[in-house]
Amino acid sequence: MFGAMKMAQEWDIKPLSKVCTACQRPFEDGERYTTRLVEREGRYERGDYCVVCWERERVEGLGCSRWTGIFHRPPPAPDRKVRKETAETLLRRLMGEKDPARAEAVYILAVMLERQRVLVEQRVENRSDGMALAVYLHRRSSETFLIPVVSIAEDRLPIVQEEILRLLTSPEPAAAGEGAAATEGT
Ligand SMILES: [Zn+2]
Repeated sequence: MFGAMKMAQEWDIKPLSKVCTACQRPFEDGERYTTRLVEREGRYERGDYCVVCWERERVEGLGCSRWTGIFHRPPPAPDRKVRKETAETLLRRLMGEKDPARAEAVYILAVMLERQRVLVEQRVENRSDGMALAVYLHRRSSETFLIPVVSIAEDRLPIVQEEILRLLTSPEPAAAGEGAAATEGT
């Protein structure tokens, strides 16, 4: 049980910074940046660097994961036409709720979104405490998703898939009066 509690704390979404982590200068539209993920005492820190600062930073050789991207302003707006729950909104919601009982569902959702090419798996961190942590990049928003890898027994898989389906299709209590919206896009 303690293991599960600890695991939930590792769920994290780290956005792309609007400014260079080192010099604090705002990124220009179309500017190339380099992102680095560094583990410090079990926590992951994300840094986004301009080309000049990265020349200095790279010398340190730190970081378990690094990649480059192009900054776009304004950042892509979240898809506001979808009122209903999608795999992505559900993943974000469950990660925010940090309920250890949802660990399998969170991991399955991440794998689903990887197949849909919404997320790209960058690497799996095998940590000294035996935990494997998957590092995903969100293709549109450049956010980093940190999600512990959960091994799911074969007989558990249909149960978790059923759970996800139920979460995707059952409207939230607050949206009860908007039943008509459920018919759109189907
Ligand atoms: Zn800089």
